[in-house]
Amino acid sequence: MSLRIASRPKLEKGGRFDVVVVGGGPAGLSAAVYASRFLLKTVVLTVDVGGQLNLTNWVDDYPGFSRISASELVARFRDHAQSFGVTIVPGVEVKSVMRENGLFRVLGTGGVDVYSGSVIIAVGAMRRKLGVPGEEEFQGRGVSYCSICDAPLFKGRNAVVVVGGGDSALEGVALLSSYVGRVYLVHRRGEFRAKPVLVEEVLARDNVELLLNSVVTEILGEDSVKAVKVLNKVTGETRILEVDGIFIEIGFEPAREFFKSIGLEVDDYGYIKVDEWMRTNIPGVFAAGDAINMWRGFRQVVTAAATGAVAAYSAYQYLIEKGLYRPAGFK
Ligand code: NAP
Repeated sequence: MSLRIASRPKLEKGGRFDVVVVGGGPAGLSAAVYASRFLLKTVVLTVDVGGQLNLTNWVDDYPGFSRISASELVARFRDHAQSFGVTIVPGVEVKSVMRENGLFRVLGTGGVDVYSGSVIIAVGAMRRKLGVPGEEEFQGRGVSYCSICDAPLFKGRNAVVVVGGGDSALEGVALLSSYVGRVYLVHRRGEFRAKPVLVEEVLARDNVELLLNSVVTEILGEDSVKAVKVLNKVTGETRILEVDGIFIEIGFEPAREFFKSIGLEVDDYGYIKVDEWMRTNIPGVFAAGDAINMWRGFRQVVTAAATGAVAAYSAYQYLIEKGLYRPAGFK
């Protein structure tokens, strides 16, 4: 369940904050919790609350919860931040962050226009596309990028393809195999990068067929997807799989253009360069979660939350150093 439609507080135009957090996934909400514990006036501006957790069903590796639904975990993150006085404004896409009179002016959709002593960028990453013929044409008509969100729509169908070899793809196959007659998993290599426990779960399903060392070359259909063309890179054989849908679960891309527009330095893959304190190349701007160049191969709720906490601590140190914030008891 997405928490996209949360109540939306009104922001005063030109309002002043200590920290603006851009992004309301685990990194952003964790940053907000920590910032508020440093008694910083904090607002979270975000498209949705929960980020990529909204694309997951269950979480069983966040310490303290042996198994919790992703939507419940998001609600807990959100409620935790709000209980400390954080303002969360969903439905906002931040368009620009610029320096103005020693502060940052943050502009977003819906007329958002606020000032802040510091900014934490925690916008996550966007879904990667295959770039094959038919993908764009049939998007929403059999082409999906989220098994967790769309699997129930395929209940009782004959067959679907899932593409990818990471946790998202394997988790998607496990889920879809209980809704659909047959699931083909197409992966470009012979080994999976997914957690072994997920691979085991998929291998145990008797309605799953693996097509390894294989790539999708075309998605075919009329009103909706009818078939997927798959090339085996080792044998050169092409198969046409008659399916009702294709789930493309091949990872994420960073929001390069947004980062560039702010002036943030990025690595070769487009992720924001940070040091161990989540400092970016712009003093006063910090970054956290899937948007950063750290731990790129290991994106977890716990790692996102950890970097969010560090970013908030660094924002606090920065604000004190610059005289933008004075904790009680300081002269
Ligand atoms: P990922 O780990 O980056 O895996 C992407 C997969 O897609 C890889 O197997 C990759 O192949 C393949 N791929 C990438 N580009 C491709 C292309 N153009 N054509 C064909 N295949 C392509 O992404 P993810 O699975 O979405 O996971 C993202 C992060 O979220 C990970 O850190 C993951 O652990 C985390 N996650 C966790 C859970 C969970 O814990 N329950 C669930 C979902 C996601 P190669 O292997 O050859 O590179």
